[in-house]
Amino acid sequence: MPAKKEPVSRRRPPRVDVHLHLSRWWRDIRRTGYRRDLDYSVRGLLAEMDRNAIGEGIVIQLFEAPTVTEGLEEGRRTAAEGHGRLHPVTTVDPTREESEVREAIEAWDAAPELVGVKLYPGYQAFYPHDRRLDPVYEWAHRRRVPVMIHQGDTLDGIGLVKYARPLEVDEVAGRFRDVRFVLCHLGNPWVNEAAELVWKNENVYADTSGLLSHPSAPYFDRMVRQAREVVYAALVTIGRPDRILYGSDWPLEELSVAVSVVDALDLPEADRDAILGGNAARLFGLSNRARRPARS
Ligand SMILES: [Zn+2]
Repeated sequence: MPAKKEPVSRRRPPRVDVHLHLSRWWRDIRRTGYRRDLDYSVRGLLAEMDRNAIGEGIVIQLFEAPTVTEGLEEGRRTAAEGHGRLHPVTTVDPTREESEVREAIEAWDAAPELVGVKLYPGYQAFYPHDRRLDPVYEWAHRRRVPVMIHQGDTLDGIGLVKYARPLEVDEVAGRFRDVRFVLCHLGNPWVNEAAELVWKNENVYADTSGLLSHPSAPYFDRMVRQAREVVYAALVTIGRPDRILYGSDWPLEELSVAVSVVDALDLPEADRDAILGGNAARLFGLSNRARRPARS
């Protein structure tokens, strides 16, 4: 007799962390990672995901990768070693020569493993509505992948946060209605602005990563409680759970603590499941990818 199938409505979506960084170009990982003896490798990441029942993860390339090709190669290797559980997101610096941006996009066209592109305004001096980014948004439209945008605080106080305010995404979200944008870090500290943008624009999402400092920071426990309040407040403003995505910013945050920010919220189970994975699976098209054989 065939095994009885669980009704679709009760099947829990796998948890997905939409904001992970795993790169050999991460500077000073021992100091900035959530703990010094962290296993900063695909194996270490997968083990930590397993301990927290996280099925899949989006691994975002750092802007420190010396060339587009090397960045893509690293992402490809991570995807292969991750056995279909880790999905790479690329990046580009639009302040570089126009020809460099064009070459980057050509290289992305030959990289089917990519599930998105991440921009780093704040670290690099440009606004998300900069016209030099139009080819990037057009690529995202063609490939039907989201554009993730770093928002708010920059690590170690480098860069200029004026470029990284959610309000600066509003115009381009209107100009590219068919492109989906992810405001990383819920715009922290401009969380209200981020929530307003998600509420206003159907194509704008936000992730919950990067709301916490290093665990040795003063008032850390209070900070975790505050992060929950911040996510809850954003949800109340937006009024629906389908465009908020769980993310950690690992290795800056420990996965168990980052997950607890969402897990501890007093929400209907379906809403929590959506934030912890269902929304991400839809946004990044993950379930379609899972059926593909792993790259060798
Ligand atoms: Zn990050």
